[in-house]
Amino acid sequence: MEVKTRFAPSPTGNLHIGGVRTALYAYLIAKKNKGVFALRIEDTDRGRLVPGAVEDIVETLKWLGLNFDGEVILQSDRKKIYQEYAQKLLEQGAAYKGEGAVWFKTVKEGKTATFDLVGNRQIEFDNSTQDDFVILKSDGFPTYHLAHVVDDHLMQTNPVIRGAEWISSLPKHVMLFNTLGWEIPNYAHLPVILGPDKSKLSKRHGAKAVSEFRQDGFLAEAILNYMALLGWTPKNNREILSLNEMIKMFDLADVHLSNPVFDVTKLEWMNGEYIRKTQNSKLKTQILEYLKYLAGGAIPDHPTEGEVAKLTPLVKDRIKKLSDFIPLTDFIWEKCEYDMAVFEKLGIKNLGEILDKIIYTLEEMKQPWEGETFEKKFRGLADEVKISAKDMFQLLRVAVSGQSVTPPLFESIQILGEEETIKRVKAALSFLMA
Ligand code: GLU
Repeated sequence: MEVKTRFAPSPTGNLHIGGVRTALYAYLIAKKNKGVFALRIEDTDRGRLVPGAVEDIVETLKWLGLNFDGEVILQSDRKKIYQEYAQKLLEQGAAYKGEGAVWFKTVKEGKTATFDLVGNRQIEFDNSTQDDFVILKSDGFPTYHLAHVVDDHLMQTNPVIRGAEWISSLPKHVMLFNTLGWEIPNYAHLPVILGPDKSKLSKRHGAKAVSEFRQDGFLAEAILNYMALLGWTPKNNREILSLNEMIKMFDLADVHLSNPVFDVTKLEWMNGEYIRKTQNSKLKTQILEYLKYLAGGAIPDHPTEGEVAKLTPLVKDRIKKLSDFIPLTDFIWEKCEYDMAVFEKLGIKNLGEILDKIIYTLEEMKQPWEGETFEKKFRGLADEVKISAKDMFQLLRVAVSGQSVTPPLFESIQILGEEETIKRVKAALSFLMA
C-alpha cells in the first residue's frame, strides 16, 4: 500500500518552529517510501483563523524545501463531506443533536487500544472514561475529531503523524473509525518539545515563527537538521545531516518517547556550522537572497553581488547567522562613523602623530598595494613610532572602518581601494583633531 502522510496545521498564526519537526518527519516518511506528502489546512475553528497564516505556511514549507504533493487541501472546502458523515452517524443512532450541535454517543464498555509507531507500543484506554463529544458544531463546521477521522480515512493517510498532545483524544478517534466501519490507521505521536526549563516550548525560550528565524538569518538546512534531532537520534549518532541523508536514515521506530528540549543556542551553533561548510558561491547566493528577502523582494543598492562575492570567503568563519554579515562588512559601502571610545580602547598615545605618518606611508606606497610590502612597511612604521605591530594594524583597522572587528584587514582594504582607504585615514585624523 502506498505510504501517504500529511502535515495538518491549523492556520492560527505563522508556521511555528515546533511545527517544522512534525512536517519534516511526515515528509521524511513519505519520501523514504516514495509515497505522498500532503498539506491539509485545518481551518474549521473559524474564530481562531489568522489572516495570512495559510500563505505563510505554504511559503515557509517551500523555503524549507518540504515540498508537498498536490494542491493545498482546505478543510473549509470540505464542509459538506463532514456534514454527510455526521448525518450518517445520526441515522445510525451513533450520534444525537443537542442545541444545534451534533454529539457522538460514546461506547462506555470495554477498552480502546491502538498501536503507536513511536515507542512501538500499544496505547490503551478504558472506554468508561470517555464522555460524549461534539462532532459538528452549531456553525456547521466539524470539530477536529470528526474532520481528522473523515479526512485521514478518505485521504488514506498512513501513518498519521502528529503531536503527542493528541493522545488523550485517541479513544474518540478510534470510536469514530470503528463506528464508521473504517480501518484504523497507524499513529505516530511525536513527543512534545519543551523549553530548557522543561515547560512547554514558547516564545520566552526563543521559539518563534519560522519566518522570524529566517529574518534573523538562519538557513533552512540548519533549521531542518536541528529540528530533526529533537526527538530522533540517527543510528550512527551523526549530528550534521542533509535532507537526503535524513530521508535515507529516518525511522519512526527511532523516535524517542522522552520530551526533547529546544535550545536556541544549539540551533545557532548548528547554523554557524552550516555557514562554514557551505561553498562560497552558494553562500554568496544565500546572502544575496536573504538581503532581498529582508528588503521585501527588492534588490538593495549595497552590498552589490561583487561585494558579497569578495566578502563571503572573508567572513564565513566569523558569522553564525546571515544577519551577522551586514554589521561586519557595511563599513565598506557606508560612510564610516568614528567613535572616540573605539580609538581610546586602543590605548595608543600620540594617535594624531602616528596617523599622520600612516597617511604619508600610504601615499608613498606604490599602487596597486601588495600584501607583503604593505605588511613590511607598517611593521617598520610600528617600530619607528614604538608601538607593537598588532596595535599598528588595529589602529589601521579602526581608521578605515570605525570598528574594532572587521574581516581581515588587508583584504578589506583591497575591497575599499587605495583612494578610499587614504581618504578614510585622513577622515579619522580630522575626527581626532576636531
Ligand atoms: N490541526 C492539528 C494541529 O495543528 C493537527 C493535528 C494532526 O496532525 O492531526 O495540532
